[in-house]
Amino acid sequence: MNDCPGSGRELPTDPPPAEAATCPVCGRETRVEPRHTGDELTFTVAAHQQVNA
Ligand SMILES: [Zn+2]
Repeated sequence: MNDCPGSGRELPTDPPPAEAATCPVCGRETRVEPRHTGDELTFTVAAHQQVNA
């Protein structure tokens, strides 16, 4: 199984996502991973598997 290309995609922080977000690639609901970059806290799409038959 491959990871969805949306994995690790940075999410907009305004408004900040809660626990879940919609993957911009596959459109599924995914978990959100907070990531500290310097002073800022950004949110990325948690790694998830690609949707394929
Ligand atoms: Zn996805």
